[in-house]
Amino acid sequence: MTHLPDGLPPLPALAEPEQIEAVARDLEGLPLVRSTVELERLSRDFHEDSPVLTPLLAGRVAQLGVHASSVEAVQRVASACVRHAVPLTLRGAGTGNYGQCVPLAGGVVLDLSGLNRLRAIDPLTGVFTADAGIGLAALDDQLRQAGRALRLLPSTARSASLGGFIAGGSGGLGSVRWGFLRDPGHLLGLEVVTLEPESRRLELAAAASRPLNHAYGCNGIITALTMASTEAVAWQELVIGFSDWERAVVAARTIGESSLVLQSLCLLEAPLCGAMPWPGGGGGGTDADHRLLVQVSPDGLPLLLSWLAELGGRLLWQRPAGSGQGLPLAELTWNHTTLHWCRRQSGWTYLQLLLPQPELACLQGLKQAWGDDLLWHLEGVRSQGAQRLAALPLVRWRGREALERLIDQVLERGGLCFNPHVLTVEDGGLGVIDADQVAAKTLYDPDGLLNPGKLRGWWERP
Ligand SMILES: Cc1cc2nc3c(=O)[nH]c(=O)nc-3n(C[C@H](O)[C@H](O)[C@H](O)COP(=O)(O)OP(=O)(O)OC[C@H]3O[C@@H](n4cnc5c(N)ncnc54)[C@H](O)[C@@H]3O)c2cc1C
Repeated sequence: MTHLPDGLPPLPALAEPEQIEAVARDLEGLPLVRSTVELERLSRDFHEDSPVLTPLLAGRVAQLGVHASSVEAVQRVASACVRHAVPLTLRGAGTGNYGQCVPLAGGVVLDLSGLNRLRAIDPLTGVFTADAGIGLAALDDQLRQAGRALRLLPSTARSASLGGFIAGGSGGLGSVRWGFLRDPGHLLGLEVVTLEPESRRLELAAAASRPLNHAYGCNGIITALTMASTEAVAWQELVIGFSDWERAVVAARTIGESSLVLQSLCLLEAPLCGAMPWPGGGGGGTDADHRLLVQVSPDGLPLLLSWLAELGGRLLWQRPAGSGQGLPLAELTWNHTTLHWCRRQSGWTYLQLLLPQPELACLQGLKQAWGDDLLWHLEGVRSQGAQRLAALPLVRWRGREALERLIDQVLERGGLCFNPHVLTVEDGGLGVIDADQVAAKTLYDPDGLLNPGKLRGWWERP
């Protein structure tokens, strides 16, 4: 079985210039984008760490852009696209890794970053409702003024939007404690705009919202989200050095399984560490050190520090989150590790895996087979209620066949691959079609205009 696409999915033809002009006429008074440079910018994301996606997505550009800063404006855009049969691709901040917001079939790109208000927060429960385009960092700051915080954040929180995180992301900071965005309990409701000649604004409760969660904006335009929050914590950031890889992995497991309140738990194999822009220099350590990056609550700090020697580690660096110079430690974790490494070393790419339990045997087996072509980056996560280490290894690019072989070996060993080198929602997940996602598209985008080519269940439906 092959895991990597060798072409684009079936797509509608590009809209004729007359169709685009008809849409533009319907949108008179809204800020439109026509300059090639700006259209190219609005059609891009961060997929370039995939040598498979990069050539496939080259030259895929929207034909018209629109900035919306109200739900009414979004409805006007939705109606105009339907009336003139023009595809519509949604954009938050454009930080996706898999070309999620790259318009494969041209058409209109709708920038939602102008929808940026925190609408309400319940002081008793912490449940909040916010516009889809609000920046996650701005939202988190506002929640903190009420003693609350987002449960989950991508490492791109300083630029990414809330709607884009739900529609295109999966988890990140906080996943060690709270699991993943699609786990029931995080997303409690959505406001959605439909793609119909007379576009409607609908309120969906938690169950009806689920099919739009991680659907790449293929089955409805999210204009607001209602979500659970957590108590705000003044995280303490630590970097812990380990000279022994096996002890480092066991320590990451042990800390993850403890009752410490953690926000992140990221383990980097020694060769990766030299390429990371450590805040404050990272506190020394040697080239041979593997490094565990931890964000822990202040009440757990004394215990963690006193535990380190027994776990085989030693403290290299420590500071309260948000203080001091340089990048936040969070921006060395998740796909920021990938970004820093790939910007400094050419000829590398990455994978996203859940390894069979316990992880160590699989980590060592694959290392033996692939040597220095595979560098381990692990993240503590809660997956279906159990603590695990997810793997985002850096992989030297030796061509498609080698990457296919590596994925096969992960699957043969009982691991799961959340493939970052594919275009569809399904192929980046478990490979299966979610009938509820397709049913939601039938309801909210019956003409199939939203983000064509990204939902395989749509064109494969009976
Ligand atoms: C260095 C790096 C690190 C990253 N780390 C993480 C991480 O830790 N965790 C993680 O999950 N992701 C991560 N990502 C991926 C990405 O940054 C996040 O998922 C981010 O939350 C996406 O938000 P965005 O606003 O940029 O979305 P965009 O890229 O603009 O959009 C993502 C998808 O959502 C759709 N969309 C956007 N807005 C809406 C809307 N209102 N309604 C419906 N659909 C919409 C778009 O069409 C697109 O399909 C990382 C990416 C990079 C480059």
